[in-house]
Amino acid sequence: MSDSYKYVYSFGGGRADGKADMKALLGGKGANLAEMSVIGIPVPPGFTITTEVCAAYYENGKELPEASRPQVEAAIAQVEKEMGARLGDPSDPLLVSVRSGAALSMPGMMNTILNLGLSDVAAEGLARKTGNVRFAYDGYRRLIDMFGSVVMGVDHEHFEHELAALKAQRKVKNDTDLSGDDLKLLVEKYKAVYKKGTGSDFPQDPKDQLWAAIMAVFNSWEGHKAIEYRRIEKITGLKGTAVNVQAMVFGNMGENSGTGVAFTRDPNTGEDVFYGDYLINAQGEDVVAGIRTPEPISRLDTDMPKVYEQLMGIRQKLEGHYKEMQDIEFTVQDGTLYMLQTRTGKRTGSSAVRIAVEMAEAGMIDEKTAVRRVNPDTLNHLLLPGLDPKAKVKPVARGIAASPGAAAGRVVLSADAAIKHAAAHPDEPIMLVRKETSPEDVAGMHLAKGILTATGGKASHAAVVARGWGKPCVVGCDALVIDEKAGSITISGQAVKAGDFLTIDGTTGDVMIGKVPTVDAEMGGHFATFMAMADKFRTMKIRTNADSPKDALKAREFGAEGIGLCRTEHMFFDPQRIVDMRKMILADDEAGRKAALDALEPYQREDFIGLFEAMDGLPVTIRLLDPPLHEFLPHDEPGQAEVARQLGIPIKKVQDRVTQLHESNPMLGLRGCRLAIKFPEIADMQVRAIIDAAIAVKKMGKSVLPEIMIPLIGTVEELSFLKKRTIAVAKQCMAKAGTEVEYLIGTMIEVPRAALTADLIAEEAEFFSFGTNDLTQMTFGFSRDDITSFVPAYLEHKILKVDPFQTLDATGVGLLVEMGVTKGRAARKAKAGEHLKVGICGEHGGDPESVAFCHKVGMDYVSCSPFRVPIARLAAAQAALADGKAISRDR
Ligand code: PEP
Ligand code: MG
Repeated sequence: MSDSYKYVYSFGGGRADGKADMKALLGGKGANLAEMSVIGIPVPPGFTITTEVCAAYYENGKELPEASRPQVEAAIAQVEKEMGARLGDPSDPLLVSVRSGAALSMPGMMNTILNLGLSDVAAEGLARKTGNVRFAYDGYRRLIDMFGSVVMGVDHEHFEHELAALKAQRKVKNDTDLSGDDLKLLVEKYKAVYKKGTGSDFPQDPKDQLWAAIMAVFNSWEGHKAIEYRRIEKITGLKGTAVNVQAMVFGNMGENSGTGVAFTRDPNTGEDVFYGDYLINAQGEDVVAGIRTPEPISRLDTDMPKVYEQLMGIRQKLEGHYKEMQDIEFTVQDGTLYMLQTRTGKRTGSSAVRIAVEMAEAGMIDEKTAVRRVNPDTLNHLLLPGLDPKAKVKPVARGIAASPGAAAGRVVLSADAAIKHAAAHPDEPIMLVRKETSPEDVAGMHLAKGILTATGGKASHAAVVARGWGKPCVVGCDALVIDEKAGSITISGQAVKAGDFLTIDGTTGDVMIGKVPTVDAEMGGHFATFMAMADKFRTMKIRTNADSPKDALKAREFGAEGIGLCRTEHMFFDPQRIVDMRKMILADDEAGRKAALDALEPYQREDFIGLFEAMDGLPVTIRLLDPPLHEFLPHDEPGQAEVARQLGIPIKKVQDRVTQLHESNPMLGLRGCRLAIKFPEIADMQVRAIIDAAIAVKKMGKSVLPEIMIPLIGTVEELSFLKKRTIAVAKQCMAKAGTEVEYLIGTMIEVPRAALTADLIAEEAEFFSFGTNDLTQMTFGFSRDDITSFVPAYLEHKILKVDPFQTLDATGVGLLVEMGVTKGRAARKAKAGEHLKVGICGEHGGDPESVAFCHKVGMDYVSCSPFRVPIARLAAAQAALADGKAISRDR
């Protein structure tokens, strides 16, 4: 970067160097401040130091590029000119804020310093100029606190301690009850805290303050909180944060001033209403910090009608301009309104859907844009559980409904406790209960099923983060009193201990003691409209992995177009059947096995009849038995004794069989097609059940499309062997019934060798379904059941960017998939003149990024669990819209 390179972009006074589409360089906040200036929205003047400077700062070993300094000086001079005030001027000091702002919003994760420019003389000057000693010294003490803690690392608690002590001494409750002289005294106390903590005096030169603050913001980019947040939110590839230096305006200049945050639409429901909070006579962070409980924005109409009207105008102007829901911050200084920020508002999945639909219906955006707007993963929010309407619900308190959905979990009182609890009891739901949350709590919030706080409003940290993650959250619950030391809380006077169950309903704000059952959501309204819109662009089919009629019907309701994987093993765990299954496994010979299988067959036939009925007219892929047989036998002695009793055989026989079935690597042992080859009678029974069920359902007048799927094929010979047998059995069934049914025989591609020899296999297979769970396992050589012992370390050291069992590894495993599709399709075409149907049924079928990959390699369908069907539908639509282009969507 040369000296003439532009490092600093000014804005304000109706002009700006930058614009909204320069987010990568100016960060979201800086780009939008520039844009607002240009479209005539009142913005205090300032400038943005670019994200490139942040990158250079780290490249230079935490030194600012020399050439950036004069540009900052010049930009400051311009702000001084604009405001008619100078930094450090004893008669009329200019004060500025210094804030972070990356290209993607990271709320509260990086540093902010307000009131910068105050010093002993400047504070005195400000008091004189405004005639308000209280205001001047309140600002000064806040600066010493923020600068001390944020820039110099002095513990904020030490400042708080002085404040509390003074309030106690003066016998007052609120900060606002302290007089100007009290605050002057407090400034002296804060300066002493500062000196004790840093070893030097609080800097009196505002330029020194400014440079230190700028570096502190850059440093916070690599701070623990910010790194953690980026990891959780999967934010990668950014250069760094920009720094925004902006003239301060004051919401704490008296009753005619205030500050607020708002959304141009309701971020919980998407409803087209102005939504937010404000506080009279308060400054910046007070509203979001959750320290005072703010007023709803609608009340501003009564408190400051003129400002409210102007704000409503700006709301409309911003939405019209950005064609997107905005999250705004504003300050009213002595009756004059200033906008401090606008950005795309974070929202729940359900509000994202409603906003996209309503904006498309209003002609603000086209349908393609609407479909691109919603992050598929956030559709989870629409599928969030609510309280079971049949349950007895006795709320003990009601807080503010901050993020919808209901959750029950065991109470933990800190993020640390959440982490410990999750490590010790990974399957137990956690309810994080805090007075308020701060960015330090994000790791604990991430683990929690639900979040409850005593203070805070709809825009508090807890609310914003929870909403972003689709976690139920209730804030501002006045009835909640926390005694962290004792590890206990009371809600409306009732005691609750850490580890007890609490239930919250983030849709209503209700809080219940104990565990209230929850029920799943259903599809309808805006959700259904939106999905229909997405389906217009989708080219891949979406199927579901289901093995019960109930799951199949749920998936169908969510838009599944068939079953892509029915895992038959789950069907044998039913108490009635497991006995016969075990008899089969423990039989000494084929005759014994057949007898047990004969007992299982009617059940199995009923299972398939149920599935075929549920999926009338849609294809149903049924996989033959896959897991190793030892999974059906108990491994503990009491369990084995019980089996021996039920089967009337000695326990030793059970134990011997368990030992015999033991394998060093059961995932690579006697399972999948190997079972069917060794014990063909098992596969025969399943095939008979499938074909007989298909015949029965066809006779009911329904349309049945069975697809028999053979798992874990590695060589074409395995497939040929089993295919022959399958055809023979199916023929017998049809002859017996005197009816024909059409069916397909295909295979899973989940062993690398199968992908490598896909051309040979496709000569026999009528369809392929990629089992990417096993394919990932065998390609990486990572045991899918043991990855938690090392994958977290791999992620931490960035050896892996993502867990390959969640998002398909396009580079390695993907290569096998692509090769399998291409070779398989070409060979099938050559051999049978047919299009080989190809899909995926590993967990990746419900992961948006993996769905995009499947689209790219030309799969016909993806199959995923019922609750991910809508997510896969949208991801497939976005992949089709993107075809070659990057998918653009707001996080
Ligand atoms: C797979 O391996 O991807 C698959 C779907 O089969 P399972 O998970 O049952 O092994
Ligand atoms: Mg598998």
